[in-house]
This record gives sequence, C-alpha cells and structure tokens, in this order.
Amino acid sequence: MENNTSSPQRAPQLPNSSSYLGMLGGGQLGRMFVHEAQALGYKVVVLEQDADCPAGQAADRHICAAYDDQAALAEMASICTSVTTEFENVPAASLAWLAQTRFVAPSAACVSIAQNRVAEKEFFTRCAEETGIFPAPHAVIASAADLGGISDALFPGILKTARMGYDGKGQVRVKTPDELRTAYAGMDGVLCVLEKMLPLAYEISVLVARGADGAAVVYPIAENVHRDGVLFTTTVPSTHVSAAAASQAQQAALKLIADIDYVGVLCIEFFVLKDGTLTVNEMAPRPHNSGHYTMDACMTSQFAQQVRAMAGLPLGDVRQHSPCVMLNILGDVWFDGGSVRSPAWDKVLALPSAHLHLYGKAEPRVGRKMGHITFVASTMEQAQTELHSACQILGIALSAES
Ligand code: ATP
Ligand code: MG
Repeated sequence: MENNTSSPQRAPQLPNSSSYLGMLGGGQLGRMFVHEAQALGYKVVVLEQDADCPAGQAADRHICAAYDDQAALAEMASICTSVTTEFENVPAASLAWLAQTRFVAPSAACVSIAQNRVAEKEFFTRCAEETGIFPAPHAVIASAADLGGISDALFPGILKTARMGYDGKGQVRVKTPDELRTAYAGMDGVLCVLEKMLPLAYEISVLVARGADGAAVVYPIAENVHRDGVLFTTTVPSTHVSAAAASQAQQAALKLIADIDYVGVLCIEFFVLKDGTLTVNEMAPRPHNSGHYTMDACMTSQFAQQVRAMAGLPLGDVRQHSPCVMLNILGDVWFDGGSVRSPAWDKVLALPSAHLHLYGKAEPRVGRKMGHITFVASTMEQAQTELHSACQILGIALSAES
C-alpha cells in the first residue's frame, strides 16, 4: 500500500488563551466538539455562514461566512493553530489552503475521498485485498452513454449521486434498466454510482481515531437501525454481530485509516449481509451520529478524541463502560397532528438511564435532527426498557420497519 507514512512529529498544541482550535462547519457535530474542546481548556473558532448555528452558539468565536470565503479563511488561519471539520462537504480547497500554514486534520486529500462515492469505492476496493471487505458491486455513471453498458447483475439496484448525499438523500431505488434511465434523467447529469441492492441482515459502523504519530484506536462495533433513510437508533454492544465479524470490521477500519495516513476521527459504515459477510458502504471524515453513544458510555467521547488528534495529544481510552442505546430525536416529536407541542423532557429525564442532548436548533421541522438521547444502564435490557418508555412519552413508534 502506498502513502503509508506518518506526518513528522510536531509539538502538541496545549490549551492556552491565544491559540484556538478551528472548526469548519456549524452543525451539531461542531457544537459537541466545541463543548469537549472547552472542557479541555481550549478556545474554539467556528466558520459557518448561518448566524444562529448550533456550533456558533457554543464557540468562543464565530466567523459568519461561507467555507470558501478567502477573508474568513485568512481570519481563521490568523487565530488557529489547528483546524478540523464536522462536515464532509466542506470545500477540500479550503482545507488545502489552511494546511499551507496550519495543521489541518483530516487532510484535504482524505476528505476528498470521503466526499466522492466513486473515489471512496476505489479506495475500499484497493484495500480489499488487505481488509478482506469489498464495497457493493457497482458501476460508475459519468454520462448517459454509460447507461447502455450496465450489467444486469446490478439490478435491482440503488442509484446514488457521487457527491453531497446524506441521510438517504440523492438516492433512487431502481429495479430495471428503464427505471435506471428515468432515475438518472432526474439527476441533472451529475456523477452517479449504481449499486447492487444487497440482502442486508443489519448495519454496523466502526469509529476509529488516529493521531499524526500514527497511533490509532478503534471503538466497539455500533449497530444501527435507520428509518426513512435517517439513523433511528444505535445499539452498542451490537446484539447481532459475531466476534469474528466484529474483529474483521475493526481490523479493516484500522487498515483503512492507516492506508491514507488519516489524522482525526473517521467513521466507517458496513453492511452485514444475510449470509454473514461484510460489505463496506461509506465513510465519514469526522465524528458520526452513530458514535454519539461514546459521549456517555465510553471513557473518551468521539469529540474529545477529535480534539486530541488535531491538537497532537495522546488519544484517549476507547473502552465502553456501560451498555448503551442511542435514540435520535427528530423535529417530528414537536408535532402532534397539526399542533406544535413541547416534548415532555422532564418525563424523559425521570428515566434513570436517559441522557438528553439537544442541539440548540430554534425551529423544529419534520425530519430535522434536533438532538439525541443515550440510554446508559448496567444492562442492555434496562437500556432497552427505558428506550421504550421514552418512545412512549415522546410519541415515537418503535415498531416501524426501517
Ligand atoms: P447517511 O449519510 O445517512 O449514512 P447516505 O445518504 O450517505 O446515508 P448510504 O449510507 O449509502 O447513504 O445509504 C443509506 C441507507 O440505504 C443505508 O444505511 C442502507 O440502509 C441502505 N442502502 C444503501 N446502499 C445499499 C445497498 N447497496 N443495498 C442495500 N441497502 C442499501
Ligand atoms: Mg450511510
């Protein structure tokens, strides 16, 4: 494997009042990063256009500008020692520009791979000899001319845009070549991938973190249930995964993160197929929704780990101390039929295992991620029981199929 060298050692960036940590992106992942960074004594500057964004509310400084605004990037560089991101679609060129004078983790090159499903699948395929885990069979569709040469074996399939997809957006399920033509016609000619629809038993994700010195840590396997394309619950430890599959996914994650000399927190999503084999789906170059359980159930949260990696500090202990289920809270729970209500957080917080995290978003909207709850108990049964109680309190149906 190429490019497997680690960056030269640098002195750690210790907390002090004159050197900030920089965050590109203002969403909830940035907000939780800010909280952890401040707990460690750092100041954080956030670059994000939205004046009332979750991370900006918490940051020590908020530069309200676009991610490619040159003056804003220069202002950021003038106060930061290191820079990270909470959003994979931040322009790689901005990261590359900052990296000329500041320590940027993850690098523009690594983020570029995660931004593009074609590059991501090439990367997974290149490493598959070593990891033993392939991406789903797929074909790249760069123009309508590619539609003719698609193998029948890829149907039924999912057409996905190569860029900017999230929470199932930018995806169309297609059963036939005709349906593919129609779906592709609706994609405005952007680069796409047709992926074979696989028989999933369940989905897992693996969080890994790596420092600039090459030291890496891997968290336990998280088992994820999606609903309407959005993460619904994460259960850790996974109730389904075998010890062999868990170890294979963790080892693969460590190999992938080292292969591209990645520095920071990386989340890799895998499918476990009905025959038990693993397929690698995609990766996020940042902390991930499925890693929120680490905030309350692990010795070091994924956000604290992101701080440590960018600041050149030793990575923290990834040990999980308690079983945990994480429930995403969408804006839906503010709506009762036509009327808007305040969710009964007081009743939720009466559940001993419940830890509520809300992201400071003023406007609840259906489908919008507003917060999450972790249920951290001494047994998984207790965590699950309290998850059920919370769903009842909040009017969330637990039984719907994902
Ligand atoms: P997110 O950002 O929320 O992770 P995304 O929009 O980037 O999602 P994917 O993770 O690729 O998209 O796909 C969303 C969901 O669709 C997956 O979690 C899985 O449930 C289903 N899915 C995707 N690809 C396949 C496939 N090849 N076969 C079967 N199901 C799939
Ligand atoms: Mg996904």
